[in-house]
Amino acid sequence: MTDETRARISTDLAGQVAIVTGAARGLGRAIAQTLAGAGAKVACVDVNQQTLADTIDAIRASGGTAEPIACDVTDSGRVSEVVTEVVDKWGALDILVNNAGITRDTLIMRMKDDQWDAVIGVNLRGTFLFTRAATRPMMKGRRGRIINIASVSGLMGNPGQANYSASKAGVIGLTRTVARELAGRNITVNAIAPGFIATEMTAALGQEILDGIRKQIPLGRLGQPQDVADAVLFLASQAAEYITGHVLSIDGGLTA
Ligand code: NDP
Repeated sequence: MTDETRARISTDLAGQVAIVTGAARGLGRAIAQTLAGAGAKVACVDVNQQTLADTIDAIRASGGTAEPIACDVTDSGRVSEVVTEVVDKWGALDILVNNAGITRDTLIMRMKDDQWDAVIGVNLRGTFLFTRAATRPMMKGRRGRIINIASVSGLMGNPGQANYSASKAGVIGLTRTVARELAGRNITVNAIAPGFIATEMTAALGQEILDGIRKQIPLGRLGQPQDVADAVLFLASQAAEYITGHVLSIDGGLTA
C-alpha cells in the first residue's frame, strides 16, 4: 500500500458498498482509495469517466474493488440510474459520500447568474439528488451512512465565495434535516467541513494567497486529502454509529 492509500485509522468495511462522487482527483480520490483500502467496494463517480482511470488503477493495484462511473451529479435521471446500477451490480448501497464540488469565485457585485447556478447546481443540487436516490436502497438494507463534504466557507463565509458558501451552508442544512428524517431507519447523515486542503482546487488560489492562509491556520499548514479521508472512514465505521446530524471541521483549527 502507498502512503496515499494507507488509512491512519483502521476499520473493516468488507462486504460494504460505497459511492463516492467527484472521485477522479483531490479529496474524492483519497476518500475512494481509503474506503476501498478498508474493504468496501467503491463506485467512483465523476463527470468524465476517462479522468477516473488513476483512481481506479490505484485501488485495483492495492487489491481493492472499484468501478468507474460517468455521471454529472446535477443530472437527476442519470443519478437515479447510477444508484440502480450499483445496487444491481453489488446488491446494496451502504455508504454515500457526496464530495463532487466546484468553485466559481468572484465578489457578489460581479457574480453572474451562471456562476451562481453552476455552483449551487453541483454542490447543493448534486448532494440532494444522490441523497434522495440513495435513501431507498439504504432503507431497504436497514442501514446507511451518508457523508457530505461541506466546507468551512459554509460555516464562516469567505469573501468572493457567496455562491460557494451558500451552497455549502445549504449542504449543512440538508445534512441536519435528512439526519432527523432517516435516523429511525438506522441511516446516519453527517457533514465534514474541510478548511484549506492541498488539492487542485486550492492550488488555483496561487502561492501568495496560500502563504497568507497558512498564517491563519493554528496548526500552520494546509490539510492533506488523507486528513479528510480518515474522517470519512471514521464516520463510515461502526465506531461512529451514534453520530448523526454532525458537522465535523477538519481545518487545522481555523474555525476554533
Ligand atoms: P477538485 O476540484 O480537486 O475535484 C473535484 C472533482 O469533482 C473533480 O474530479 C471534478 O471533475 C468533479 N466534478 C465537478 N463537477 C462535477 C459534476 N457535475 N459531476 C460529477 N463530478 C464533478 O476538488 P477538491 O478535491 O479540492 O474538493 C472536493 C470537495 O471538497 C468539494 O465538494 C469541495 O467543495 C470540498 N472542499 C474542498 C476544500 C479544499 O481545500 N480542497 C475545502 C473545503 C471543501 P472535473 O475536474 O472533470 O470537472
